[in-house]
Amino acid sequence: TSYGFRKVADGEKQGLVNDVFHKVAKRYDMMNDVMSAGMHRVWKDALIASLNPRKDVGYKTLDVAGGTGDIAFRIVEASDRKAHVTVLDINGSMLAVGAERAEKKRLSENLAFVEANAESLPFEANSFDAYTIAFGIRNVPHIDVALKEAYRVLKRGGRLLVLEFSEVEMPLLERFYEEWSFKAIPRFGKMITGEAEPYQYLVESIRKFPNQENFAAMIRNAGFSRVTYTNYTGGIAALHSGWKL
Ligand code: SAM
Repeated sequence: TSYGFRKVADGEKQGLVNDVFHKVAKRYDMMNDVMSAGMHRVWKDALIASLNPRKDVGYKTLDVAGGTGDIAFRIVEASDRKAHVTVLDINGSMLAVGAERAEKKRLSENLAFVEANAESLPFEANSFDAYTIAFGIRNVPHIDVALKEAYRVLKRGGRLLVLEFSEVEMPLLERFYEEWSFKAIPRFGKMITGEAEPYQYLVESIRKFPNQENFAAMIRNAGFSRVTYTNYTGGIAALHSGWKL
């Protein structure tokens, strides 16, 4: 099927992505619930269960493309407020919403917010016990570069977890999902922000993202060991795991 989107050049991608998230930052959390029909909460909980953060004060996670803080809050809570999470995002508007939410939840002590690019992390090598990224890596123009950076900043024995939309494995579900994503999501986007095109771009980026096996191969290429993945909701989302050994 062709959906007739205009071609987006490589250099233009980051700018488009940044525009979307600047515009929606304040409404992002509500839109997430609407557009995923609440499913993003289940998938995020699965990531946290898989990470199973240590309950000690020294445990350090870097949550990249962390946006408004959903993953970070869950990690801190799952560690009985012992762990420390650095929320990194290229978009200051998303981080500002995250910092405000953190204050309200009284989690600020366990969190740091850093505005930076996943392709060039402002941290020393071997700094973190875990690196997480949820629904962010497909927005990064050079995924291989981001994965190399993940490998660099993790300590030996550190864990990589990537949650991302993936290839749907059930034909019936796929039909429904395509209708939903290509028609409903841009329509909701237009209702809420007045523009449909940025959402078309985001949905298109899901289709262009490598499938489970190909993405696992990219993670291995970046140097990670014991790379595995788990599908959720028939592959609408997949969680990839790797270790720096
Ligand atoms: N992880 C959050 C969640 O699951 O709710 C936010 C996901 S949101 C769909 C994608 C985020 O990726 C946005 O906040 C966006 O600013 C961020 N992003 C896009 N490109 C990035 C880059 N090159 N480096 C860091 N973050 C980036």
